Amino acid sequence: MDYKDLANLIFPDAKDISYYEEKYPKRDLNEGAIVTRYAPSPTGVMHIGGLYQSLIAKKVAKQTDGVFFLRIEDTDQKREIKNGVEEIVNSLKDFEMTPDEGMISETEEVGNYGPYKQSFRKEIYQSYAKYLIAEGKAYPCFCTPEELDEIRTKQEAAKIRPGYYGVWAKCRTIPVEESIKKIQAGEKYIIRFKSPGREDRKIKHKDVIKGNVDFPENDQDIVIIKSDGLPTYHFAHVVDDHLMGTTHVIRGDEWLSSIPLHLQLFYVMGFKAPKYAHIAPIMKNDNGNKRKLSKRKDPEAAVGYYAEQGIPAKAVNEYLLNIANSNFENWRRQNKEASIDEFELQLNKMSVSGALFDMIKLLDVSKIVISKYSAEEVYNKSIKWAKKYDKELLNLLEDKEYSLKVLGIERGNKKPRKDIAKWSDVKENIEYMYDKVFLNKPQSYEWQVINNKEEIEKIITLYMQKYYNVNDDKQTWFNKIKELAGEMGYAKEVKEFKANPDAYKAHVGDVSTVLRIALTGRANTPDMYEIMQVLGKDSIQKRFEKVM
Ligand code: GLU
Repeated sequence: MDYKDLANLIFPDAKDISYYEEKYPKRDLNEGAIVTRYAPSPTGVMHIGGLYQSLIAKKVAKQTDGVFFLRIEDTDQKREIKNGVEEIVNSLKDFEMTPDEGMISETEEVGNYGPYKQSFRKEIYQSYAKYLIAEGKAYPCFCTPEELDEIRTKQEAAKIRPGYYGVWAKCRTIPVEESIKKIQAGEKYIIRFKSPGREDRKIKHKDVIKGNVDFPENDQDIVIIKSDGLPTYHFAHVVDDHLMGTTHVIRGDEWLSSIPLHLQLFYVMGFKAPKYAHIAPIMKNDNGNKRKLSKRKDPEAAVGYYAEQGIPAKAVNEYLLNIANSNFENWRRQNKEASIDEFELQLNKMSVSGALFDMIKLLDVSKIVISKYSAEEVYNKSIKWAKKYDKELLNLLEDKEYSLKVLGIERGNKKPRKDIAKWSDVKENIEYMYDKVFLNKPQSYEWQVINNKEEIEKIITLYMQKYYNVNDDKQTWFNKIKELAGEMGYAKEVKEFKANPDAYKAHVGDVSTVLRIALTGRANTPDMYEIMQVLGKDSIQKRFEKVM
C-alpha cells in the first residue's frame, strides 16, 4: 500500500490534474500583459477598500492589454450572506469596473477559465489535493477538535509557537496502512499539507508594493481540504491563480504574512508563483489619529454610501486614483480634460503604510467632475438619484425644459459652477429657482449692507419702473444697475466708493445684493444675469412683490 492507494481511497473520482492543466491552457496574451483579479468573499456589504482593490487591479490589467476577472471566494459558507454575489457584481458595474471574465450575477459567468465561484470548483481542488496525497505531500489528519485544543493548551503552557507543525503534527507520521484502515473504519478527517519548511530558515520576498521582505519559512501543516470537502483560502488561492493564469495577485496586506506559505505551496505543486502586490488598507484621520476606515464606525466605508449620497462613481474612481498614486494630482493638473484611463498607474508608487481617505477632498474632486457635466447629464443623473432617494427633488425636476435652463446656469463655459458635489446637494442648490417653492415659502431675507426696508423697496421699485428690460444683454443690464445706483446716491464703481466712502451711501455691489436677495432669498448665487434670464419677467415681478 502506498500514497497512491491512499489518494484513491480519499478521492476515488477525482480526475488527474493533467485534465485541468490542458483544459485551462496558458493565456494567449502579449508579452507584459498583466492578469489580475478581484477575489472577494460574499460575506457582507461591499467595502470601499474592495472597490479600491478592484480599481487598481482593473487599471493595471487594462494598461497592459491584460485581463481583469472576478472570482467569488465562497468556501466559508457559514459566513455567506444572501445575494452577496449580486452585491459585488452590481457594485463593480456601478463603478464602471465590470470585469472581463468572471461572475456576472449570482449564478452566471463569462470566460474560459471558470467556474469563477469556488464552491463550483470542488472537484478541481480535490484533484490537486489527490495529486499531493499521491506524492506524499499531503495527508489525512484525524485529530479531533479536542485533540487540537489539547495541543494548543500544551503549546501555550510551554510558551512555544502555536500550530500544527514538527512534533506537534501528530498525523503527519501515521503510516499509510494505518490511515487507510482509519478511513475504512469511518473515522473523520481533513487533508493537511505536509510542509517541507523549517522555521529557522528565511525566505526573501519582493513585493510589488511593499518591497523586499524577509520571513521565516513556513513549517505549518495547514489544512488544505476541510471536513465539508471544500478547500481553505490558501489552497484555493494557489490552485485558482495558477489555473486562471493570474500574473499579479493584488490583495489586502492582511495576507502579506501568508506569503511564506503561499510561495511554498506554489513551489511544492510545481507551479510558477505570481507576483504579489499587497495593498495597505485605506486610512482615516480620526482626531489626529490615523486608523483604518472601519465598516462599523464610518458610513463612508460602505460602497452603498456613495450611491445614497449621490456622489458620482466617476468622482469616487478619480479620488481613489488620487490616493493610490500621489503623482495623479499633478497629472490631472496637466491633463484637465483627460479620462482617467489615460493615467498610468504604478503599483510600486502605492503607499506602503496606507493612503489617507479624506471626504472633503473627495467632495472637491466630485465638484470638479460634476462641473464638467452638461445640464442634460446633471438632469438625468439627478433624476435617477431622486427616484430612489428624494421624492421632493423628483417633483421639483418635473418640468424638464425649465430644469435644464436652471441647471444650465454657469455651465458649459470656461469657469463652470462648482457648487454641486453630490446629487443630494442639487435640491438645496436650485430650489429657489422654482416659483412653486420660492413663492410659497416664507422667506427670511437676510439683507446685508443695505437693510432698511424703505430703501430696499425704493431700489426695487425704481429698478422695475425705470431700468428692468427683459431683452437687455448682460452689459446693458449691468450698466443699468450702475445707473440705478448712481441715481440713488450709491457709488457706480466699487473703486470710487473705496476712494471716497463718505461721499456715498454704499456702492453698486450693495445695490445688486439687494436685488439678488430679493430675487433668490440668498446673498450668494451663481450669475444674477443668467438667473434673471431663466426666471423671466413674470417670476421676477412676483418675487419683487413678495418683498414689499
Ligand atoms: N477572499 C479573500 C479576501 O476576501 C481574497 C484575498 C485575495 O485577493 O486573494 O480577503
